Order: sequence, then structure tokens, then C-alpha cells
Amino acid sequence: MKIHEYQAKELFRAHDILVPDSEVARDPDHARRIAETLGSPVVIKAQVHAGGRGKGGGVQVVDSAAAAEQAARNILGMELVTEQTAGMGKTVNQVLVERAVAIDRELYCSLLVNRDTATITILVSSDGGMNIEEVAAATPERIVSVDVNPLLGLQGFQLRALAAVLALSGDTGKKFSAMMRRLYRFFVDYDCSMVEINPLVVTDQGELIAIDAKVDIDGNSLYRHPDVAAMRDPLEEDPHERKAAEFDLNYIKLSGNIGNMVNGAGLAMATMDIIKQAGAEPANFLDVGGGASAARVEQGFRIILDDPHVKGILINIFGGILRCDELARGVVQAATAVGLSVPVVVRMEGTNVEEGRRILADSGLNLINAEDIGDAARKVAEIA
Ligand code: ADP
Repeated sequence: MKIHEYQAKELFRAHDILVPDSEVARDPDHARRIAETLGSPVVIKAQVHAGGRGKGGGVQVVDSAAAAEQAARNILGMELVTEQTAGMGKTVNQVLVERAVAIDRELYCSLLVNRDTATITILVSSDGGMNIEEVAAATPERIVSVDVNPLLGLQGFQLRALAAVLALSGDTGKKFSAMMRRLYRFFVDYDCSMVEINPLVVTDQGELIAIDAKVDIDGNSLYRHPDVAAMRDPLEEDPHERKAAEFDLNYIKLSGNIGNMVNGAGLAMATMDIIKQAGAEPANFLDVGGGASAARVEQGFRIILDDPHVKGILINIFGGILRCDELARGVVQAATAVGLSVPVVVRMEGTNVEEGRRILADSGLNLINAEDIGDAARKVAEIA
């Protein structure tokens, strides 16, 4: 689960990782009052679950409380488009008003769970700041990594290697090691999957301050982090995904136009592959689960139909625990209630398949029967 920058900074503060003084505001007047308390200059920063805000106009440095109010007025309510928002705008509902730091150097630092090596990988670069994506693309050798064995923990030699890469020595080098130890502890204790500080700033006084904070915490661990669970921001979630979660459906919105409903995550992945092989793009991933009831199938169907990009739907079911007749009833129920605005191709096999087919055929609805999975994908791709 992602959290906002201001929330990540609260956690950092509690773990003695230095961050600038700041407070979150939801209206321009509040932003002005915070700026008055902090003293100018301050930085006004859009709070959305996406990076690249600076380049998108979501970060502004101002030198008076009045200018802070104006900047907050400009940013609040804005539809922020950044490199990380997949072409769509994210509505800004809150801004962070933060004391501006006198920056000497901007470094990059992140920790992530590395499944390939079964380690916690730490990445650092001296070229931190807003152009890190370009650094990664053009000069990847300027980003250096170390793999930390979670059973051994972060070792002194690894800290020295990282400090050397960042050209941090003397007092600042020691501060870096101490900060990294705390950051590593935080990463493990909070079941993080990713923590990124970009930029990690070296001030002219040789202090290390986290200017940005991105924290992603394993959603499965939230039961043991109630403080983080309380940080969930439903406004940042896709409304369809939110609705699906209420009905215990595994739904993920994608950018194509073929909706699909499948039982079993593996079959759902294979179905998305086959849609792409047929030359079309899936609009979603939806696993209704092995033991789905007609009511759940109906909900899944409603969620798919609610996406205006969907031009056709492929239902691919292997009737095991979820019987084909039960699925067919759910589809007919939903299609009758919602009204079929797009063609639906159905491929069913397995338990009670004959009865399932009969229910679909008798429904009078325009459902297209497919012989097999390849035939289903071809038919639905042609429609789209
Ligand atoms: P994003 O990565 O989403 O663009 P950042 O938090 O990295 O947002 O902010 C963008 C840039 O704005 C930073 O690289 C830094 O140069 C500047 N900046 C952000 N916060 C501060 C601050 N408190 N003091 C000084 N400069 C800041």
C-alpha cells in the first residue's frame, strides 16, 4: 500500500530520519498560516501517490506566506499529470507546506525487496533529483546497488561502499551510516516493499535530510501496522478497484478495451495473454475466484460494464468449484439487470457445461458462444 509523502515523513520523523519541518494543508488559508509559522522560504508540494510532481508543476518554492497561499490555491484541485500517472490526471486534495532547505547536493537512495536475489537491495546515486529516470536510462552505471542478506542485516562494509559511491566522508559519512541503519531498520520493521528518498539532500552544514519520501508497505502486513492502515487514502484508489475489493473480487484496471471475467488467477493471466496474441488489449484483470456465486459474478460483470472503454467482454470459465450453470445464471442475471451495451463472448468448459450453455442460449441475450479459448479471443478481438 502506498502512502503520501507527508505520512511517510511522519514515520521518518518517528524513526529519527531527518526531514524538514512541514505540515499538510487542505485549503490555501491553512497553507498561509503554516508558512507564517515556518518562516519563508517554503515549498508547496502536491500530495498524490505519484512521483515526478516537480516537473508536472506540483512543487513550488515561494518566499512569502502570501505567495504560499497563492501557490496552494493553484495546486489544490489541480489534475496533476506526471510521468508516473499513466497519462491520466490525479486530483490534488492536499498540499505539504515545508520549510525550504539550502541544498548543497541531491543524492538518490532507495531500498526494495529484490525477489531475484532474495535480498533487500539498496540503490544509491550521486545524481539524485528530478532527472533520476534519465540517469537510469542513459548512464545506469551511475546508480550503484548493494544486496543485503536479510538474515545478516546491513553490514559495515556495505555502508562504507555506499558512502564511497556518494563521496560522503568524515562527519557526513558517519551521519550517512547512522541514517542508513535507521532506514534499514524502518524498512524491515514496517514490512516495506519499497522506500525511496529522492532527493536525499546534503545541506551546506553537512546534514543529510530526506526531502522526498516514498514508502510502499506490503498490504498483507497491515494487520500488524494499524498506524499505517489508518493512512489509507481511498481517494487515491481506482473507484472500480475499490468496489471490487468490497465484493472480494480480484480486479485490476488496465488500459485496453476488452473486458474479461475469468475464474482463477492463472487462467486470468493466460486469458490476458491470449487477448493480446489476438491483437487486442485487455481492459482489466478479473479473477472472480474458484467458488464464486452467481451474485459475485453479477458484481464483477457490473464493474466491467461500468468502464466506458470496454468495447467487448470475454468470459472464460473453467467450471470446477464454480459450476458452469452457476456462472451462466450470474451472467444472465447481471446482463438482464444492467442491460448489455457491448457484445459478450463466452467460453465455458467443465462441470455442468451443458446446462450452463442451455441457460445462456435460453436467455434471449446476445451472447456469443466460443468453441475454445483461441476462438473466444479471436471473436472478441474482431469485435473490438
Ligand atoms: P518529485 O520527485 O515528485 O518531483 P520532490 O519532492 O523530489 O518531488 O521535489 C522536487 C524538487 O523540488 C526536489 O528535487 C528539490 O530540488 C525541490 N524541493 C522539494 N522540497 C524541497 C525543500 N523542502 N527544500 C528545498 N527544495 C525542495
